[in-house]
Amino acid sequence: MSSKLQNITVLGATGSIGVSTLDVIRRHPDRYRAFALCAHSQVDKLFEQCVEFRPRFAVLRDASLAAALSERCRSVGLDTEVRHGVEALIELSSLPEVDAVMAAIVGAAGLEPTLAAARAGKKVMLANKEVLVMAGELFMHAVREYGATLLPVDSEHNAIFQSLPADFARGLESCGVQKILLTASGGPFRNSPLADLANVTPEQACAHPNWVMGRKISVDSATMMNKGLEVIEAHWLFAAPPDMIQVVVHPQSVIHSAVQYADGSVLAQLGNPDMRTPIAYAMAWPERIAAGVEPLDLFKIARLDFSAPDFERFRCLQLAYDVLREGGTAPAILNAANEVAVAAFLDGHLPFLGIALLNEAVLQAMPAGPEGSLADVLAADAEARHMAGQLIRQQRFA
Ligand code: NAD
Ligand code: MG
Repeated sequence: MSSKLQNITVLGATGSIGVSTLDVIRRHPDRYRAFALCAHSQVDKLFEQCVEFRPRFAVLRDASLAAALSERCRSVGLDTEVRHGVEALIELSSLPEVDAVMAAIVGAAGLEPTLAAARAGKKVMLANKEVLVMAGELFMHAVREYGATLLPVDSEHNAIFQSLPADFARGLESCGVQKILLTASGGPFRNSPLADLANVTPEQACAHPNWVMGRKISVDSATMMNKGLEVIEAHWLFAAPPDMIQVVVHPQSVIHSAVQYADGSVLAQLGNPDMRTPIAYAMAWPERIAAGVEPLDLFKIARLDFSAPDFERFRCLQLAYDVLREGGTAPAILNAANEVAVAAFLDGHLPFLGIALLNEAVLQAMPAGPEGSLADVLAADAEARHMAGQLIRQQRFA
């Protein structure tokens, strides 16, 4: 067991992944310390976390929220220093005292602090897949250039990481890898009659059969955009060409993904659907620690099913393969359009089926450029958001 207490910055501490991360930290006070807890606007929840974990820093979106939290911390004698804004997120992801950063902000907002953690050579535990979708080349370059340690937290990628040899970076083909089998539950509408999808409500879309997650990723799972983003994520994490990544619908979510080798072997990672397993794996790697997860009972599960994805029903999955093949800023454009589309759907301004239509319309209207610098990526992101917003206001897909 490692002797030094590890200081962890948790980006997105109040979210689903953030709360699970804190649960693993809670179980191992001898190994981990919550150094900085960062959230968007949930003052009450962050305050409770500060009281329990006594972090050195806490961060909220703006100055007035930060002042409110700071006041509450002082009133109970806590000396947590409260900061605000993106600059604070960047600083608290790169300070020398920080050993590891849990990147668990949802969406594009996580890109800059997560990139800063990589550029500071930190151990980066990556849940925020949008970072790799938007700026995969830039981010992976920073990881290599600055000697960061990148550990995937997304359950599928964590499973693939566990099923690959330790030296996979020398190239998948030379490791004998034929295929990456990326499993997908298929979400809540895997078998719904197509006609019913037109009237899906946010509550129905967020009711995932196997996982309890934030609302954005839950909607992405219902459209299978999530699996599309994960195909792009796998491409960058493992330098896997698009044709090597096969999506396999597996409704039980017990096999979290697998790797097929030239000799006919398939190595997989199995477990109950509980994000504390991949989180604990990333935190303790290369060691293993208890995560509070129920042991897998194969007798209770009894059977596992598999089928091919339906690219017609799940148009977003096809769009993701398309932008991955196109390259440059195309994935960032899709990601931005999708974030706007999902937010509009959750707010009741876009029907469920409008999400894929809007994504496709933005991709068709906006030519992709080279990925280039962070500024190029952010410009493509902003333009795609603007265009998606306009299309929604024009009620094109209502
Ligand atoms: P969530 O909505 O539950 O939490 C998001 C967190 O990010 C919150 O703490 C929120 O305060 C913070 N946040 C949001 N916008 C922010 C901003 N502009 N600036 C700073 N902080 C901001 O989301 P989640 O389900 O925990 O997902 C987080 C990330 O992890 C996503 O990228 C998701 O795709 C990925 N992921 C989640 C799961 C899961 O089981 N929940 C599994 C795999 C991957
Ligand atoms: Mg996943």
